[in-house]
Amino acid sequence: MPTQPLPHPALFLGHGTPMHAIAPGPVAMHWREMGKSLPRPSAIVVISAHWTLSHCAVTAMSQPRTIHDFGGFPRALYQIQYPCPGQPDLARRIADLLHPLPLEQDMSWGLDHGAWAVLKHLYPAADIPVIEVALDLTQPPIFHYELGQRLAHLRSEQILLLGSGNIVHHLGAVRWEADAPAHPWAQFFDNWVVEKIRAEDHGALLNWENWPEAAHLAVPTPEHFLPLLVILGSKTPADDVSFPWRGIEMSAISMTSVQLG
Ligand code: ZN
Repeated sequence: MPTQPLPHPALFLGHGTPMHAIAPGPVAMHWREMGKSLPRPSAIVVISAHWTLSHCAVTAMSQPRTIHDFGGFPRALYQIQYPCPGQPDLARRIADLLHPLPLEQDMSWGLDHGAWAVLKHLYPAADIPVIEVALDLTQPPIFHYELGQRLAHLRSEQILLLGSGNIVHHLGAVRWEADAPAHPWAQFFDNWVVEKIRAEDHGALLNWENWPEAAHLAVPTPEHFLPLLVILGSKTPADDVSFPWRGIEMSAISMTSVQLG
């Protein structure tokens, strides 16, 4: 009997500031090493904090554009291109996987910085097809977890599911001084989430009404947290769970990453 290949690892990466794309520090160097050590995926499906809609959609163009969806950064950041191909066939297959949920085949988005700012380091050659699946902000946390459960099948085809967000993300509480320590509530919530993932208590991460008090500051808006739920939903019984990077940058943004498999 031929043995089944293990599912491709799934990743949630804390992406932080887009400046990591042009001024790589330790986290970006770590992403580069990660890209070299992971098995090469056949395609990448990104769930980014920076593509939020009031319905579900997947990018379906053959050549996604690089979107510079931020303001006030150095000119060099606006000049970055990540000219990877898309994969319209895969976009259609995802519609089949999610059926009967209506999934728009989007021809206008592309790759936002939640995708390219990390992919530029993970796979600098930009030669692996990438598509994005949008977050539907009208849906509750469990919807995103179930989305991950339905996308999990793709991992057995050596497709990388990549969630890009931040476990803690409060721009209003960011401190720009170098080496500013983490706010206590930020460190507390990051630790709490890691503990729940280790204990495989995904229910606690889905039940936002019962989150600890620190969550009000750590997750003031849902979009940076939701990609984590999609990735956790894709967990298979065979997966080891690890945290390849832990840390808080600018006092209020968690760079913690999670790897399944
Ligand atoms: Zn972001």
